[in-house]
Amino acid sequence: MTQPLIDPFARKISYLRLSVTDRCDFRCVYCMSENMTFLPKRDLLTLEELDVLCSTFIDLGVEKLRITGGEPLVRRDIMTFFNAMSRHLDSGALKELTVTSNGSQLARFAKPLFDAGVRRVNVSLDTLDDAKFAKITRWGRLPAVLKGLDAAQAAGLKIKLNVVALKGFNEDELFDILTFCNDRGMDVTFIEVMPMGDMGETDRIGQYWSLDDVQAQIAKQHRITPLPDRTGGPARYVQLDTGQRVGFITPLTHNFCESCNRVRVTCTGEIYTCLGQEGKLDLRGPLRNAGNPDALENAIRFAVKMKPKGHDFDYSRGQADGQMSRHMSHTGG
Ligand code: SAM
Ligand code: SF4
Repeated sequence: MTQPLIDPFARKISYLRLSVTDRCDFRCVYCMSENMTFLPKRDLLTLEELDVLCSTFIDLGVEKLRITGGEPLVRRDIMTFFNAMSRHLDSGALKELTVTSNGSQLARFAKPLFDAGVRRVNVSLDTLDDAKFAKITRWGRLPAVLKGLDAAQAAGLKIKLNVVALKGFNEDELFDILTFCNDRGMDVTFIEVMPMGDMGETDRIGQYWSLDDVQAQIAKQHRITPLPDRTGGPARYVQLDTGQRVGFITPLTHNFCESCNRVRVTCTGEIYTCLGQEGKLDLRGPLRNAGNPDALENAIRFAVKMKPKGHDFDYSRGQADGQMSRHMSHTGG
């Protein structure tokens, strides 16, 4: 039996988040600059390499695979990859295959994704207002995303909406968003904005809206019961008196590191074992090292051995200490 991936702090790595492209059809202000330069295609792992990479992680005990980006559904022929991964669902080695998407392409991909074995999709949507949506995503159009949500639900996919909480932007929509999700039977998770990349014209700290405050606002209208569910990640969950589940992802103010079960791999094959640290290791070289079939496994094991105990974010003095130079679109969030 293959030895599972256990890091030096006895955390078992069972969850891989894989970015399959750095490209996106949106330019969300907190994620990318408007004139992003994307990687040359030759730097990206091929679909076959993505398959070998994921299959190796699954052999080493990864049971949950989340595909992200950039926007994963803009990668050409991405369904070839999803269809290939379904063999691991069929064998039972992989328990869950999920996607994080901006929803723009879901109308087209919902049914094929379901057919490949995907059952849950996270869709990022920060506002229900057309004009505000166009402003925050710069290039996105809300009706396409709403169509995507309809198609996903019609195909049988369970949806969780990811909402980045932004002061002065979607504060006034808090209850509309909750109602929208409740009416459609979708879970919702609020995300604290993180100090990622260089946003140029927009001041992230000015936009920071503490999720403790979001929860306090919700508590004015609902009875809130904390739920014990932990997924090994930065999310915690509560249930409202309506029965609705609401998640909060607060990487900056809550410490979730001790239960962290995940690693991230970028579309160029860099493994990051901690969202909040710059430490990374190249897996593309080992992946392409045809002479040594063990090179990839060895590199993965080496990276997991280096997984840090915790992250470096700190907003405490109104400045983003530990600020990351990389973009979320690079590591996939
Ligand atoms: N394009 C897909 C999407 O938007 O869902 C997947 C990739 S996106 C980088 C993954 C998640 O990261 C999205 O929910 C997005 O809102 C979130 N995100 C991006 N930049 C962020 C930031 N600076 N702080 C917090 N969340 C961020
Ligand atoms: Fe694209 Fe997602 Fe980043 Fe928005 S958050 S620019 S949709 S990758």
